[in-house]
Parts: sequence; structure tokens; C-alpha cells
Amino acid sequence: MSYNTKFIFVTGGVSSSLGKGIVAASLAKLLQAQGYRVTIQKLDPYINIDPGTLNPYEHGECYVTNDGAETDLDLGHYERFLNVATSQANNITTGRIYQSVINKERKGEYLGKTVQVIPHITDEIKESIQYLANNNEYDIIITEIGGTVGDIESLPYIESLRQMKWEMGENNVVAIHLTLIPYLSAAKELKTKPTQHSVKTLMESGVQADVLVCRTEHEISDSIRDKLARFCNVDTDCVIQSLDVKTIYDVPNHMLSEGLDKVVLKKLGLKSSKPDLSSWNQFLNKYKHPKRAVRIALIGKYIELQDSYKSILESFIHSGAVNEVRVEVIPIHSEHINKDNIAEKLENFNGVLVAPGFGGRGIEGKIESIKHVRLNNIPFFGICLGMQMAVIEFSRNILKLDDANSTEMDLKTKYPVIDIMDDQKKIINKGGTMRLGSWECKLKKNSLVSKIYNCDIIHERHRHRYEFNSEYFKDIEENGMFATGINSDTGLVEIIELKNHPWFVGVQFHPEYKSTVLSPHPLFVSFIAAATKHSNN
Ligand code: GLN
Repeated sequence: MSYNTKFIFVTGGVSSSLGKGIVAASLAKLLQAQGYRVTIQKLDPYINIDPGTLNPYEHGECYVTNDGAETDLDLGHYERFLNVATSQANNITTGRIYQSVINKERKGEYLGKTVQVIPHITDEIKESIQYLANNNEYDIIITEIGGTVGDIESLPYIESLRQMKWEMGENNVVAIHLTLIPYLSAAKELKTKPTQHSVKTLMESGVQADVLVCRTEHEISDSIRDKLARFCNVDTDCVIQSLDVKTIYDVPNHMLSEGLDKVVLKKLGLKSSKPDLSSWNQFLNKYKHPKRAVRIALIGKYIELQDSYKSILESFIHSGAVNEVRVEVIPIHSEHINKDNIAEKLENFNGVLVAPGFGGRGIEGKIESIKHVRLNNIPFFGICLGMQMAVIEFSRNILKLDDANSTEMDLKTKYPVIDIMDDQKKIINKGGTMRLGSWECKLKKNSLVSKIYNCDIIHERHRHRYEFNSEYFKDIEENGMFATGINSDTGLVEIIELKNHPWFVGVQFHPEYKSTVLSPHPLFVSFIAAATKHSNN
């Protein structure tokens, strides 16, 4: 098959966590801003089918696409940078590759052949990459290979890259290698040796890196560039420096000044022009020059890890820029909150967000926080589990349904105000079986949310098993908590609001997955506006 589409691969060397996802997203942004249609794909070498069953401590946030794929959090960066939706095809794991190959083997599709890593696994990997090129939707596909070169588990992916480079030719496939140039303070020197070794490791698999992106804490001198070029077989202008920056949103501009887009396009035989980053830079300008600050408490139970609530934190950056305020997000562990310390814990906050989550650990602290913000008119935003906790708090303290709970936390609760849906009860498998992906929701006229969204029908992404129990619907509404968003297909409650409160919204879905630099999510924007107003009081 021949493709018009061009392929760029991003591999990593020397160390993990160098930010391949951000470099891939920044390059994609620069290409998109020159008129190219670009998408980014992540290949994850682990055996899990998807990260949906992984603990956030293991893998950070699980990101969800419109089509209900539970994916690596890098897809969140791709969407936030490009403002284009991704799908299941943008995240492939080794588990998924093997599952597909084994299914084909069982169906007899290999016609009696011995099924092997080469060619069957590598063919499956190549198909998953080229699949994105099938509908001629994209001019360029950027594929990020997870892990670090030299890892045993990434070998089949590197081999697939080697084959694609060989089969499709130099003008169609470019390999970018992201590496680290460590600084030895004792010697006061930047060291190139780890990069030389990592490029060599890549070459042992038959892949010559075309471009080096070098993460560094200090400027790389011309002589270091020359040295890297000479030892690693790359042109000097293909040694790209990636200095540490204050915000990931600065990286596209840095890559632009280093000419990453130019050298890549030249290698692909494509025209380069000046990228139009005007709206991107408008955002950056607002983000960097806030007029004031607001303090938001993020109440959750995975707060030690900055990646667990990645999309929420990024949504605050987008919505802060719109409001021209700096959003100081202070995480509070819900297990450390109780009746006696709540007033002190939430002192001086202008808004409280109760985070999504699973299981009973720390939920009483979340409920206590919601009671406090409800009684003290502090803007409140509950997401998924956060919304469910708001319903429980209201049921316990206003409806006086003692010990009302979710059946996720207490199977025998007398008042299951949050309950599992009938069609979920039969499900035994944990992976990929929640209510996932985009669902349509109808907003109640004159509600706060209909004003915020400025429309009647919205589409938002879900990832949960439990729901607001409609048996309590009437009681709850009669007492002042309103269901203002209803699922168009199932009739389930997707949004609750409180009357007589400046800003109290709980959503069963995850708005944070849809907030991007160029389309900040309206709920976050409005929540931050309410917090700004609160800070004036
Ligand atoms: N644990 C809850 C459920 O499954 C909420 C999930 C979430 O916050 N994403 O319904």
C-alpha cells in the first residue's frame, strides 16, 4: 500500500520522564500551525490492554477519549495542544497488539504458520500505525514510542520503526530521538556520553536517529552540538536543544526557535512556512500576566502524585488564563479532613473542587468538605465521585437520610442514593466495562449550567459505574438540589445544582478531558470566575 501520509517517530533515551509527549505535541502544534493535518499516537510497551485498570499511583491519570477508550495521559496533552479529538487508534499497548494477534491465530487467519514476534507482532504494530493513515485524514502522523530504547519490551516497536523506515524510504519516515544531556556540577560540564550510548543502542536495532532533541538544564554550546552531531551521525542543525521551561505550553515556541519543525519538514520533503501561533501566544500572554490570584482546594486521595489529576490541573491553567487570574491549586488529602479541622483546612479558599475517584478511602472527608462549602457559600465543583458525594451529603444532612451512601462504598446502605445501574450489575470483568466515552446530555432551561454552556445539548465524556439513584430524585429536588442535566438516552442524572448558592455544580462526567488551550472548558471558566468573585468578598 502506498500512503501520502508521512510518519514521524519519537523515541526516548537515557532516562524516562523526559517529556516525549510534550515534544511530540509541540512539534505537532508547529506543523498544524503551518496548515498540516496532524495526529499523534502513543505506543505503550506494557502488557495491560489499556491503563483503565491501572492504579493512578502506577500510571497517573487515565485519560478518556470520545469513543470511550481508556488511554495514557499523553493523549490529554495531544488534545490540549492540538484541539483535535483522539480515539482508541491513538493509543496502542503491547497487550492490545498481542490480543489481536492471538484472536487472529484462533480464527485461523495465519493459515498454519508459526506465529512469531517478527513478522506477526511487528506487522500488527505497523498496521496500527498505518491505520491512522487509511482515511487520508492526516498529512502527518507522529508516533511516540513509550519507554526508553534498550528496554526489552520496546524492541518490537523499534523493529517496526526500522521496517517502516526501510520500506517507506527516508522521505516518508523520520526518527526523532529525545535524550538527556546531564550536567555534572562537580565537573561543571554537560555530558554527551549517555546520548552517544543511547543513539548507539538505537543503531544496534538498525535505526539511525535523524534528529536529536536534547533535554538539558543548561544551554548547549556549539561545540557540544558539533560533538553530538559527529558522534551520533546527525546534521548539526538536527541537534535540537530542549531547555527546561516554566510551563509545558512554552515548548512549541522553544522548538520553533530551535527549528525542529523546519528540519523535520525538510527531511520529509515538505514545505515549511511561518507557523501561525497567534491564538496560542494570546493564551500564553494571558496565562503569564495574571491580574490577581485565586486559591482553589483540590480534594482527592491521590494528591501526592502530580500526574493523577493531570487534566484537572491543566483545565485550571486554561480557565485561569481566560479569567486573567493565577489559579493556585492546593491539593488536600481527603483522609486528613474531619469535622473538627474542616473550617481550618478550608480557610482562605475561593473555591473547592472535589475530585473523581474510586473506593471508600477518604470519602467522609470529601462529604465534610462539601457540607462546609454548601453552608459557607464557597464555590463548589464536584466531578464524578465529587458529584456523587454532593448527593450523599445533601441526602444525609438535608433529607436526614442517616448514613445515605453509594453502594460502591456500602452495599447494604439503607439509602442507596448513588447506586449501580442494572446493566452494570451483571459485569464481572473490570477492564473497559464502565460507562465510558461521550454521552449526550440535555440541559434544563434557565439552569446555571445552561447559561454557562449557552446551549441546550452538550456532549461530555464519562468513566464510572455508579449513578444518581432516580428513586430519590423527587425528594432531592423538592429540597433544593436540582438535576439540571439529564442523559438524552438513558434519562440518568448527569448534573446537579444547588439553589441559593453562588456556584454549586456537580457533574457525573469529566469536563476536564475536553478542556484545551484554544477551547477552555466553560464549566472550569465559570467556576474560576465565581472563585474570583468570591475572592473580592
Ligand atoms: N467510583 C465512582 C463510580 O464508579 C466514580 C468514578 C469517577 O469518579 N470517575 O461511579
